[in-house]
Amino acid sequence: MAASRTRLAPSPTGALHLGNVRTFLVNWTLARQRGWEIVLRVEDLDGPRHKEGAGVAMIDTLAWLGLDWDEGPYYQRNDLRPYREATARLAEQRHVYPCRCTRKEIEAASLSAPHGDGHELHYPGTCRPAENEPIDAELLGAEGVAWRVQVPAGVASFVDEFSGPQQFDVAQTVGDFLIGTKLGLPSYQLAVVVDDARQGIDKIVRGDDLLSSTPRQMLLYDLLELGPPPTYTHLPLVLGEDGRRLAKRHGDTRVSHYREQGVSAQRILGLLAEWCGVGTRQPLSAVEFVDRFSLDQLSRQPVVFTKADDAWLVQGD
Ligand code: GLU
Repeated sequence: MAASRTRLAPSPTGALHLGNVRTFLVNWTLARQRGWEIVLRVEDLDGPRHKEGAGVAMIDTLAWLGLDWDEGPYYQRNDLRPYREATARLAEQRHVYPCRCTRKEIEAASLSAPHGDGHELHYPGTCRPAENEPIDAELLGAEGVAWRVQVPAGVASFVDEFSGPQQFDVAQTVGDFLIGTKLGLPSYQLAVVVDDARQGIDKIVRGDDLLSSTPRQMLLYDLLELGPPPTYTHLPLVLGEDGRRLAKRHGDTRVSHYREQGVSAQRILGLLAEWCGVGTRQPLSAVEFVDRFSLDQLSRQPVVFTKADDAWLVQGD
């Protein structure tokens, strides 16, 4: 049997901080412990938020920490054809439809409807075609036209390898979600599925902020007839002391910031090790981390990054 494959998929919208690095470290470790191949894929399609040079900087940070990969880096922006082909195939089969609604219009329609998921709004189905109404394929790739999936009613369930049984009602929460944006780019949901399928990824390990995206991605696997979806392992996030997801408001937690102050990779891994249930914080290498880590020891609760953690890192070896 061919080896399993996973991917490290950073989005170059900022820099790697202690939170997303913990997820990458666990993903990489599981792969090295279990003999999975690792693909490095830079998810650089998020137009306005995408920062020039951030992908290269992230790769440098991962390598500095001692992580490696077997294939890549692949950059999604380098070739948009696979996403266009997938969109055309979905349109041909009437699974998707063009939409010109503005965010304002969707917000106005959502006021009396469910609230969506996080920052996402519930799409009320304004542009959804009537049964048998043809889909205008001429609009594929047209400026100012987004594409949405016709989400079937009902609850989707799956079992996450770490977070356990999950149930989501996609139609009720986000509704007909985007697979193509008005800028002519694939949405995150489509790009990730097209790439996971063509890169042979069968093991996905990522932060549990993406749990609710999973049933959307599984639906796309089904509609595109890509075979069985990967298995999913969603890990709790790292939070700040205010209980919110680690971000700029919690100070500078970028790995590169600590590195510039002379903090060693081993020391950063020492803190991450404690956060992963690998003893008390002791500087260690990525290879030593692989020897000692066990997914069973990982807490199901989110980790909280404190000022004391920051002080421990910069106090030096
Ligand atoms: N690029 C995404 C992120 O950095 C991860 C996507 C995924 O793992 O599916 O949040």
